[in-house]
Amino acid sequence: MEKPSTPKLSLGDLKDELIEHLMQELCTPLTNIKTALKLLESPTIKPPQRQRYLGLIGGECERQNSLISGVNRLIALDRISDRARIIPLQLSQIIPGIVSTYQPLAAEKGVRLGYTIADNLPPVIFVETWLRQIAIDLLHNGIKYTRSGGRVFVQAAVQDEYVRLEFLDTGIGIPPAEMPKIFNRFYRIRSSADDDNNSAGLGLTIVQNILLRCGGSISVASQIGVGSKFRVLLPMGG
Ligand code: ADP
Repeated sequence: MEKPSTPKLSLGDLKDELIEHLMQELCTPLTNIKTALKLLESPTIKPPQRQRYLGLIGGECERQNSLISGVNRLIALDRISDRARIIPLQLSQIIPGIVSTYQPLAAEKGVRLGYTIADNLPPVIFVETWLRQIAIDLLHNGIKYTRSGGRVFVQAAVQDEYVRLEFLDTGIGIPPAEMPKIFNRFYRIRSSADDDNNSAGLGLTIVQNILLRCGGSISVASQIGVGSKFRVLLPMGG
């Protein structure tokens, strides 16, 4: 039976699961790294093989790095001092700056990146570092899962007592069967399109947790080969 998604985490809930996953996620790559290092020692190794083993070691190190930083970010969500900083924030003063920091990455991939955030939107009541984290994670995913020639776009509008912030991409899309699972901890979709995906599958878990803690929510609509739309609702001030 599939495990139901339990988005709201306390440190206590997390402990056992984190330790178990960390052991798995750290041990398997370590074995792969050790094997690759042993093979690299062979005096008869050919340059293409050498390159392959070095690439494998690099990828495994990157995944462990994502895992450790993701777990740290998840644990940091329980820091009371952060939650105390819920203040009115103007999206037009935050989102454009974040988008511009991703322009070089998008350009390198051949992905067009843009946004429309009106200056006169009402402020949202949120923690600034968390809002930035949400935008960074969703923008990063949009670029990561969109091929050259595609487009990633951020837009915002008022919806009832929320400001709706949407991240749209013309990327690879998400298979319908995977949609309920993508917010689960450590969940990654494995496909030939992202064979070099060295992430930890914690980005969307963190985004959803932040939103639940601040009275917001996230939903997704996606179509394979067409693209995805992540819709975030942020509570409005006033
Ligand atoms: P990851 O760090 O692996 O990107 P996330 O929690 O951010 O982990 O996302 C979980 C999975 O959801 C990813 O492995 C990816 O397969 C899928 N996903 C997330 N965002 C997108 C997107 N914009 N387009 C297609 N697939 C996505």
